[in-house]
Amino acid sequence: NEFRQLGLSEKALLAIKKKGFEQPSPIQKITIPVLLSESCDIIAQAQTGTGKTAAFGLPIIDLLDGQPKGIKALVLVPTRELALQVCDEMLSLADKRIIITAVYGGQSISEQQRRIKKGVDVVVGTPGRILDLISRGDLDFSQLQIFVLDEADEMLNMGFIEDIEEIMRHTPKEKRVLLFSATMPDRIVKLAKNYMKEPKRLEV
Ligand code: AMP
Repeated sequence: NEFRQLGLSEKALLAIKKKGFEQPSPIQKITIPVLLSESCDIIAQAQTGTGKTAAFGLPIIDLLDGQPKGIKALVLVPTRELALQVCDEMLSLADKRIIITAVYGGQSISEQQRRIKKGVDVVVGTPGRILDLISRGDLDFSQLQIFVLDEADEMLNMGFIEDIEEIMRHTPKEKRVLLFSATMPDRIVKLAKNYMKEPKRLEV
C-alpha cells in the first residue's frame, strides 16, 4: 500500500484503511509528502473528485495532532455544499479529539457562533460567512498556521476575491497558504503573488 510511503502517521493510515482507500490518488501522492516534510506554501492544480480533500486534509490532521486548542487551520471553499462535504471528509479522516466545523451562509449564525465558542481546531467555511464571523469578533486567528484556498478559481468566479483578501488581512503573517485550483487565471496568480511565500507548484 503506497500510502505508507507518504510519511503519514499510523493513526492516519488506520483512518485511510477504515475509509477503504486502497491507493493514494495522483494528487495525494504529490501533495502529502510535501505538506508533511516541508514548510512551504503550495499551489496545486487539481480538479474536483480527485481526492483533493484528503490530499490536504490528511497532512493537516497529522500536523495539528496533539496541539493545544484554538483555530489552527482555515479552509475556504466557494459553496455551502462544499463546506459540508469538506468538513465531513476531514472528520472521517480525523481523530475525534480534533474539532472540525463548517460555517456558511443560509444557516443560523448563532448556532455556528456557539460551536466556535466551544473551541475548534479547523474551520471550513465560505468567504461571506467567515467575514461575518470575523466582524462579530467570533474568530480568533492568532493560532492560525494553515490557510487553505480550495477551488480558488470557483471562488474567483463567484466574486469572492476581495473577501478572500480581506480574510487574509485578518490572519497572522506567519502561516502556510495552500491553494487548490482547477485553472490558474491571472487573478489567481496575482493573489498567489501577493499572499504566498515562494509557493511550490504541484501538478498532477
Ligand atoms: P474529493 O476530490 O476530495 O472531493 O474526493 C472525491 C471522493 O473520492 C471522496 O468520496 C473521497 O472519499 C474519495 N477518495 C479520496 N481519496 C481516495 C483514494 N485514495 N481512494 C479511493 N477513494 C478516495
